[in-house]
Amino acid sequence: MPLHITPPPRFQQASLLTKLSLFLSCICLILVATVDHARAKKTASCNTPGAGLGVSRIIEVDASNGPLYGSISKYTKEDEVLGPKEVILTFDDGPLSWITKSILDTLDAFCTKATFFSVGKMALAYPDSVKDVLRRGHTLGTHTWSHPLNMRRYSIDKATAQIERGFSAVALAAGQPIAPFFRFPGLSDSDPMLKHLQERGIATFTVDVVSNDSYIGSPTRLANYTMAKLKKRGRGIMLFHDIKAATAKALPNILRRLKKGGYKVVHLRSEKPLVPVTKFDEKNKARLAKTLARKKGGKKNLVPFYGAVAPSKPDAIINGKALEITKLNPPPRERKKKSKRLHKGTTRIVTDEHGRKVYQKRRKYRRLRKPRRRYRPPPPSPTFWF
Ligand SMILES: [Zn+2]
Repeated sequence: MPLHITPPPRFQQASLLTKLSLFLSCICLILVATVDHARAKKTASCNTPGAGLGVSRIIEVDASNGPLYGSISKYTKEDEVLGPKEVILTFDDGPLSWITKSILDTLDAFCTKATFFSVGKMALAYPDSVKDVLRRGHTLGTHTWSHPLNMRRYSIDKATAQIERGFSAVALAAGQPIAPFFRFPGLSDSDPMLKHLQERGIATFTVDVVSNDSYIGSPTRLANYTMAKLKKRGRGIMLFHDIKAATAKALPNILRRLKKGGYKVVHLRSEKPLVPVTKFDEKNKARLAKTLARKKGGKKNLVPFYGAVAPSKPDAIINGKALEITKLNPPPRERKKKSKRLHKGTTRIVTDEHGRKVYQKRRKYRRLRKPRRRYRPPPPSPTFWF
């Protein structure tokens, strides 16, 4: 009598699962190989003349005297460094791995470079993204430790702690020194904070062209708005946020339109890196250790980190030619506020009876100019009784 041995259903299922997992892993390997091949192809194509948007030149800033660049600030700024139709791309508030990665991929596809002002807390939560920014040859600055919007009202100690912990955290996440470049959250700068940055040899960057991506959710509208603003000014430091999905979606369209419109991207770079203070090392290391432990505990690492950390001065050959490097070393300046008026139109400075200058609110200013019309009911319509 023939003996039929049928494996129990549990084992049958297991073998089926093993086959399925083997098949899936094969597909994954093929996909990874294709992505690597595509990436290699992309980098190769960036070295061919005229590929993508590219980079037109490099501006290398020596931040020893704490310069202030960009137009949106009431304090004395450095002279305009960009020529007509030249732009600098900047991304704030990140990293947020899935958005930052998409933005980095788009920048790679267009063979162009940007500057990222990362928030310390975010950098310690997504250290791989920070490393990825540097590995792909972009510039990394900071945007405080936790992005407070009211820094102007902070005590100087609290404000400097925000600035310094931000630098310490981003450098720790990057695993290497970063650029001495800083941007105030909400562009909320002040005299004592600018003085501190000057003493530390940190360059401050404000903005010329605001994309308003914090408020515009539609990628098409965002691209239209940004390009209209840029057209009006003709050049400038452009502000985006690498935590907004709309920005990641609109970026290919914006970069395509920059190329079509004859705009040139200038890559900002620092002459030497900043040495962070050691005061916050323990706190930041403890926070980074928590993130790493969480990842080891099974949470998927969304942005894998390949290979070595980027060199401090990435390759300056794009579009098949060595890029021109403009070196800037502005002298120290006294940062004077342009106007003491707080809010144009609603506040003015007057001298009181003791000869002191005080702010006076212009109350009922508009009402005096244009008196409100009293509501008059319309005349009754004639009634006909026949
Ligand atoms: Zn911000």
